[in-house]
Amino acid sequence: MEVSENFRILLNNPQLLPELKAIAQKVLDKQRITFDEGVLLYEKAELGYLGILANYLREKKHGNKTYFNRNFHIEPTNLCVYDCKFCSYSRLLKQKSEGWEYTMEEMLDIVKKYDGQPVTEVHIVGGVLPQYDVAFYSELFTRIKEHRPDLHVKALTPVEYHYIFKKAKIDYATGMQLMKDAGLESIPGGGAEIFHPEVRELIAKDKCTGDQWLAIHEEWHKIGMRSNATMLYGHIEKYWHRVDHMERLRELQDRTGGFQTFIPLKFRNQDNQMSNVPESTVLEDLRNYAISRIYLDNFDHIKAYWAMISRTTAQLSLNFGVDDIDGTLDDTTKIYSMAGAEEQHPAMSTKQLVDLIKNAGRYPIERDTLYNVVTDYNDFQFEETEKPKYYKLPVIN
Ligand code: SF4
Repeated sequence: MEVSENFRILLNNPQLLPELKAIAQKVLDKQRITFDEGVLLYEKAELGYLGILANYLREKKHGNKTYFNRNFHIEPTNLCVYDCKFCSYSRLLKQKSEGWEYTMEEMLDIVKKYDGQPVTEVHIVGGVLPQYDVAFYSELFTRIKEHRPDLHVKALTPVEYHYIFKKAKIDYATGMQLMKDAGLESIPGGGAEIFHPEVRELIAKDKCTGDQWLAIHEEWHKIGMRSNATMLYGHIEKYWHRVDHMERLRELQDRTGGFQTFIPLKFRNQDNQMSNVPESTVLEDLRNYAISRIYLDNFDHIKAYWAMISRTTAQLSLNFGVDDIDGTLDDTTKIYSMAGAEEQHPAMSTKQLVDLIKNAGRYPIERDTLYNVVTDYNDFQFEETEKPKYYKLPVIN
């Protein structure tokens, strides 16, 4: 790919720190940056510089293509045996009156609501409760696939898997094979938070460790399956904790190649035990996307959740390394809105999402979970929507 004029100007800028110039040259030469260079980017690099590097890499991988998928969420419960300090979602067992707990039939009813609709994926994730065990989830996945074989089941994180496998006294490899046999097709990226124990102990101390999170994904990848990864940033962690987190992911990805997408998750401070911690600025969010794109050279995709960061920031992020915007949600997730996201009822039609991407100068591509193209919306014409009806009003003299 041709180097952009901006990149040339950057490399010839006499005021650019020599260390940053060296990193830019590495990016151009397809060389991997080191841990220390990752920290340096967080500490010293300005947004404009990061945007040029990240956008160069994004366009080298995907051109103007920007992916999205059509999915719906099932959140089995918002009760949880854990007590993560940043969680605005969980109502601990003692606050049961504010919680919900779906039965198997209620979850299948949610799936049936989407019969005949062109969704390609169901995303299942929520709190951790003892009755949702290996047998329960195996039956749920099997029955979803029996009802609708074409629906991709993306479900649960290592937080749930570690808990249910421990209760069932089975190891990770056996457990993940059981889940696959039951109908599980991929794992979303949640539960990663920050891997380093120094931070994890303070914000999410009882659930699976960073190493356990990585070990479960590794077992999943070993049986030929794909997954995603997240990082909850912008709270009490230091920059080097973020780089450490990405380093561990990059190292696992070198060994398995099973990750598809990295999703930075912005910490929101509403209605949780860390409400005194200020949130990151939009500027910091964009810097973080860009550094993720530069650091994770072996990840194909960087995704932004528009429902979490707002539609405008999602559009901006497409110039800072992001090539995927999380789907056309139908107001089926409460995880972001309960944490204080701008979008309290996150619903967007396909046309709205396509317009959002086009208005940012990119090409919208609907994908399935595994990034097969479903529809290329670049030259797609939507049918005219029904015109609003006007009623004749009585004339009052
Ligand atoms: S983040 Fe997940 S595991 Fe932690 S309390 Fe909330 S629902 Fe439970």
